[in-house]
Amino acid sequence: MIPPSFEYFRPKTISEAVALLQQHGDEAKILSGGQSLIPMMKLRLARPGFLIDINRIAGLSYIKEDGGFLKIGGLTREAELEASSLIRSKYPIIHDTASVIADPQVRNLATVGGNLAHGDPANDHGATMLALGAQVVATGAKGQRVIRIEDFFVSIFETALKHDEILTEIQVPIPPAKSGGAYFKLERKVGDFATVAVAAQVTLDGNGACQKVGIGMTNVGATPLKAKKAEDFLRGKKLDEAGINQAAQLAADESQPSPDLRGPAEYKKGLVQELTKRALASALKRASR
Ligand SMILES: Cc1cc2nc3c(=O)[nH]c(=O)nc-3n(C[C@H](O)[C@H](O)[C@H](O)COP(=O)(O)OP(=O)(O)OC[C@H]3O[C@@H](n4cnc5c(N)ncnc54)[C@H](O)[C@@H]3O)c2cc1C
Repeated sequence: MIPPSFEYFRPKTISEAVALLQQHGDEAKILSGGQSLIPMMKLRLARPGFLIDINRIAGLSYIKEDGGFLKIGGLTREAELEASSLIRSKYPIIHDTASVIADPQVRNLATVGGNLAHGDPANDHGATMLALGAQVVATGAKGQRVIRIEDFFVSIFETALKHDEILTEIQVPIPPAKSGGAYFKLERKVGDFATVAVAAQVTLDGNGACQKVGIGMTNVGATPLKAKKAEDFLRGKKLDEAGINQAAQLAADESQPSPDLRGPAEYKKGLVQELTKRALASALKRASR
């Protein structure tokens, strides 16, 4: 399919891109990796009149630790996350996530900023960033503001970003010692969106009990969901089999899947339960190393 016609801009700075967004209002869209936007345009589900390609803006792609945070530039590609030794060694949950998104061709172009900004509950980074307690930096005409990831996802395909804001950075608090996380996804075939996926991140205290815990769920609601009851239940407890099972049940209860071609709602709740168990067990193992 051929997308409807549009006007194309290739700004060299963020302020130029923001000015274009302001000038063209609701009809303008940022183009990053194009791996969600272009297919939607080809299917005529999106018809932006103006595309603002931010790929030529320097300094938007990086992965570094700075000021207590892991900082990921908005334009960082999935393939860069996958290849990063820092991500592999210290943030395996992000490596797990990036490496199950689509296929290598898509991952060469798709960006983390685009993945979050798209606001698709089936996108994988949302749940992981919820588990990690991340925040995003939005840059607009008035400068930068920081949005907690918990406040970022508003509804299906809707985020807290204003129309003239660009997601320029993702900030993940550097996890203390004895932390670990994992992302488990079930897909119908390699390269598919998740039928269901679960992210879990834990920090253990000196007695091996759960000091901090984050659990995020993919594609079981209108937005990526945080399993708050499961988290509350686990805080202060040892991650033994009974505790993990109880938390997994709570996460399944909190999930709000809809029936679709990937399966009925009850099946998806069962998957939340199983994948929560696996993600927590793997997070515990990684935190105990
Ligand atoms: C075959 C296929 C399979 C896929 N499978 C998966 C999968 O398994 N899991 C998964 O998570 N995703 C999957 N995707 C989606 C893919 O990961 C997308 O790339 C990602 O959702 C969007 O990133 P992008 O950089 O391509 O964004 P784009 O397509 O360029 O943009 C997407 C939306 O976000 C906006 N946007 C982009 N960047 C910014 C920014 N920095 N600031 C503000 N707004 C911005 C755009 O205006 C647009 O509305 C798949 C895509 C394809 C084509």
